[in-house]
Amino acid sequence: MLSGSPKPIGLFGGTFNPPHRGHLLAAREALRRCRLDRVIFVPAGDPPHKPAGALAPARDRWRMVQLAVRNLRRCSVSPVELQRRGPSFTVDTVRAMQRRFPRRELEFIVGADTVSEIPTWHRWRDLVRAVRFIVVARPGYRLKPLRGAAARFDLVHVRGLRLSSTDLRARLRRGRAVGRALAPGVHAYIRREGLYQA
Ligand code: ATP
Ligand code: MG
Repeated sequence: MLSGSPKPIGLFGGTFNPPHRGHLLAAREALRRCRLDRVIFVPAGDPPHKPAGALAPARDRWRMVQLAVRNLRRCSVSPVELQRRGPSFTVDTVRAMQRRFPRRELEFIVGADTVSEIPTWHRWRDLVRAVRFIVVARPGYRLKPLRGAAARFDLVHVRGLRLSSTDLRARLRRGRAVGRALAPGVHAYIRREGLYQA
């Protein structure tokens, strides 16, 4: 980055079903260590032609991320994947953000478990040419290098939290305690809306 040029913007995609403290820690550490201007969370939209199943509606997930980041400096939520029809592809989200922030470098934040999935994403080679990746360590997952692409990675080694939305959904369904894993506003929202019930 040239001195004097604006700081990069971090994009943090995911289903956030629901958002938990592991996500918030990842965003905070990426912000701090990679000197980002801000982090924009991008919750994925509703998958087309699929019954909802364990995935809460996109609007609820978007609202929960808003509640989760409410008190976090330099963090916000974008509805871009909710507004788009059809499946939401990361490459399209990045293009949309490039149009919105033409002078900014964009960095895409992922947890270590997600790196090996990138080659399954739509037009992933275009994606890795367009952004740098910030990879946040995730306990229980080893980082596997991405082969066959000149992808650019920044690794952020944090002592991450052993939390996953899958585990939290299971706890909520069984009525078990979730401790401090969820922001209080998110937990209250889940209870009020009756999300993740059996
Ligand atoms: P699920 O169990 O439903 O897959 P999740 O906890 O993995 O949920 P996602 O919404 O799938 O959450 O993740 C969004 C992004 O956040 C992904 O890049 C994922 O790797 C990253 N991430 C999720 N939890 C953590 C964590 N505890 N530490 C670091 N990164 C995380
Ligand atoms: Mg996941």
